Amino acid sequence: MTTPQPRATVAEIPPYVAGKPPTVRPGMTSYKLSSNENPYPPLPGVVEAVQAGVAAMNRYPDMGSAALYAALAETFDVPADDLSVATGSVGLIYQLVQAFCDPGDEVVFAWRSFEAYPIAVTAAAATAVKVPVLPDGRHDLEAMAAAITDRTKVVLVCTPNNPTGPAVTQAELDAFLAQVPSHVLVVVDEAYVEFVRMADPVDGIATYRRHENVVLTRTFSKAYGLAGFRVGYAVAPAPIAAALRAVSLPFGVSTVAQAAAIASLERRDELFERVEALVVERTRVVEGLRAAGWDVPEAQGNFVWFDLGDRTADFAAAADAAGITVRPFAGEGARVSIGEPEANDRLIQVAAAFR
Ligand code: PMP
Repeated sequence: MTTPQPRATVAEIPPYVAGKPPTVRPGMTSYKLSSNENPYPPLPGVVEAVQAGVAAMNRYPDMGSAALYAALAETFDVPADDLSVATGSVGLIYQLVQAFCDPGDEVVFAWRSFEAYPIAVTAAAATAVKVPVLPDGRHDLEAMAAAITDRTKVVLVCTPNNPTGPAVTQAELDAFLAQVPSHVLVVVDEAYVEFVRMADPVDGIATYRRHENVVLTRTFSKAYGLAGFRVGYAVAPAPIAAALRAVSLPFGVSTVAQAAAIASLERRDELFERVEALVVERTRVVEGLRAAGWDVPEAQGNFVWFDLGDRTADFAAAADAAGITVRPFAGEGARVSIGEPEANDRLIQVAAAFR
């Protein structure tokens, strides 16, 4: 007897390994540093806006997310037609591949990078082309440009790169874009853009305005601290944004998620003070780790990368014993989010002792 069979490529989809919560140890405060979340909860005004939305949860949300589009358009000074909101920016990555790739088309991205990329690509029966990052965790943009073939439809540039940490400069991105054929879509994944503090940072909005094949993906999950609400947005030339909206999941952004995102945009100044505090903590962590002898790559997101090879599992166990959960990548290394100061103190202590 035959049973329904998924497309053969479904069996090839790699698993998404979510960051684990901390092991509960009586008498010990523990910290989850495994998912690049913001350690600070939504502001009171955001919680109030959400509570107002809860009362209407018997209704479907506004499918067009009109108020959220208007707020994003005003905040970033872009036409609403150039925007697409989605169920997290991971939703946008899925939609981009779905809208632009036929089965067998190629999607080029750096590796290691965000683990959802090969999942989204394989789920669409497209082919993942992984270009190794340089030893210092940077994108090898020369090699990525060289990896583009006649089958390439999309290139994903993750900046800052999750999990290794460095970001590309505007000069590097411009040089790369000059090498990419105009029919290839370049996705600049800016999930951590608000944490970037470097010379010659990418100005994503100015870049998408100059190129008809560039799309930015951003999220409310990191700097805005709304990971649980699942809201992301893309900024792209109108035809690309329209394609994204066309393949979006109907009602994919809930009423409370829309309310939380709008209320957070209204409180950007206050939220970005928290981002600044996390950036200060990031500098302290990187300096502390380097002083302890660790060769950590440049960290431009809200996380640091430890290149540990076969010591990865031992490091994760040592961190867990000290009450912090990190995100191990078996045999490669561990990514640790920047948390509140006490969590970061503990990371520095554990890492210094582990070396
Ligand atoms: N891009 C990158 C680089 C990420 O690290 C993440 C989250 N870990 C995302 C996109 C997706 O974030 P979200 O779906 O929460 O918006």
